[in-house]
Amino acid sequence: MSEQTPASGHLVDGPADPEHDPTASYALEPGYVASLTSRVVSTTGEAVPVSSPLNGQPIAHIPQSSTDDVAEAYARARRAQASWARTSIDDRAAMLLRLHDIVLDRQDEIIDLIVLESGKARKHAFDEPPHIALTARYYARTAHDHLDTQRKLGVVPGLTRVEVNRVPKGVVGIISPWNYPFTMALCDGLPALLAGNTVVTKPDAQTMLSALLGAQLIAEAGFPADVWNVVAGAGSVLGPPMIERSDYICFTGSTATGKLIAAQCADRLIGASLELGGKNPILILRDANIEKAAEGAVRASFSNAGQLCVSTERMFVADQIYDRFVERFVARTEAMTLGASMEWGVDMGTLISQDQLDTVQAHVDDAVAKGARVLAGGRARPDLGPFFFEPTILEGVTPDMTCFGDETFGPVISLYRFLDEADAIARANAGEYGLNASIYTQDGDRGRAIARAIKCGTVNINEAFGATFGSIDSPMGGMRQSGMGRRQGSEGIHRYTESQSVATQRGMRFAPMFGMSDEAYARLMTAQLRLLKKLGRA
Ligand code: NAD
Repeated sequence: MSEQTPASGHLVDGPADPEHDPTASYALEPGYVASLTSRVVSTTGEAVPVSSPLNGQPIAHIPQSSTDDVAEAYARARRAQASWARTSIDDRAAMLLRLHDIVLDRQDEIIDLIVLESGKARKHAFDEPPHIALTARYYARTAHDHLDTQRKLGVVPGLTRVEVNRVPKGVVGIISPWNYPFTMALCDGLPALLAGNTVVTKPDAQTMLSALLGAQLIAEAGFPADVWNVVAGAGSVLGPPMIERSDYICFTGSTATGKLIAAQCADRLIGASLELGGKNPILILRDANIEKAAEGAVRASFSNAGQLCVSTERMFVADQIYDRFVERFVARTEAMTLGASMEWGVDMGTLISQDQLDTVQAHVDDAVAKGARVLAGGRARPDLGPFFFEPTILEGVTPDMTCFGDETFGPVISLYRFLDEADAIARANAGEYGLNASIYTQDGDRGRAIARAIKCGTVNINEAFGATFGSIDSPMGGMRQSGMGRRQGSEGIHRYTESQSVATQRGMRFAPMFGMSDEAYARLMTAQLRLLKKLGRA
């Protein structure tokens, strides 16, 4: 591993395995690790080792939670919720703004942990702290818009006063994946807290430290003890007891797991938002700026080595520019630098695990065996680290190949030529997913018109994914098999609230008055309905 970055100071160099070599050391100072792992609710005495996908160096032992520990985490969260819900919206928003500053001030430390645990390039790890800062600032500054009691139209104008309150659900369970380990562990919880809920979170086992640092920063921002609780362990073991005790579940991960979780939530009749997988298309229209599109296509396809839910895996290119575009896209891809490094200057890091590498290798092998052509990459790179795979461009991919419709979740993009845009839209919409799409065109109106025909929850025009992902005021999530519900925007906070309608009636009652017959009352009400329509009332 290369030198530590000056900002963090928590990294240590060391030989491989402290379990078997007493002179060996972990990649992080034990005291620093202990300050993070002490945040796990755990009484088991068990701890599992985690090592860095960069080079296999051990990082830490992570204490494991039992189902009793899950119960304890929920008991703490439940107790804390009652008083937390009584704090003012302004106080909660002020904590979010403090978190914003802390995250930006401590971003080197955060990025170090992300790179160490996930093996991604530093520039891809950099995406995470700003996403949390954006989320914290957005919800802090719009808190009253989303949460204040709102007046609504009453049934009888002037006599029925209606207000809608936003009541917190209670305790929210958050289950998050490893691919963006800091932001995925935190971003959905911030609006939950702001709305008056408390949180129990189970981050992915491979990237617990990034999530635990997030928990520590939340505490440093002033959020009280027990509003944010962390458990650690296998999702299949801890998931059911979490769902059993949650008032709402927020899940980010694979479609297969999302369906299991949805079924368990249905059984308890609790809500869930599910941010799931994708097989995301990018359309390069004939009027696209070729150089800008090629640059964007590299980021769309290979950010975080393609281990990104909104990453592009299918590219549809207009016939008129296909050859020129592909030449530039291949050249840019071949110019990418790969490496296992904590430093800036690397274009792509490693996949996170052997499982990920096996899937990527299997998809590429299957495609090549069935006749796909490799225009760039196509090989594992064990010389760089145990799980490296080159950014790979395939041509001639057909429906019988696994990577035609299945999510690879790796740095593999399939190129397709199109002759007319209607055909490109139909092919982009084929399959079961509907998470994110990109369109490159110099005609913004045309791009927006095509976006309306694309069955994806987010569409980025002349950008890969960052334009929607960073615009926290707009909802983000998937259509079809890519999920249910949305993070970000008002939907991203209202999912954690129950709306409560309160109507105060005066001057009349909904029954005959002053000795009126039922029939006269019915005639009066009918006349009132006709009048209100004439007056233009909704
Ligand atoms: P995964 O579904 O295997 O795991 C995600 C999380 O769920 C982990 O914390 C895991 O421990 C937990 N889990 C696993 N089985 C569980 C169970 N039975 N009950 C409860 N929890 C369980 O997903 P993964 O393969 O680790 O993550 C990659 C997937 O996540 C990809 O498909 C990707 O597209 C998707 N993803 C989606 C988004 C999004 O916003 N839509 C973001 C990131 C990742």
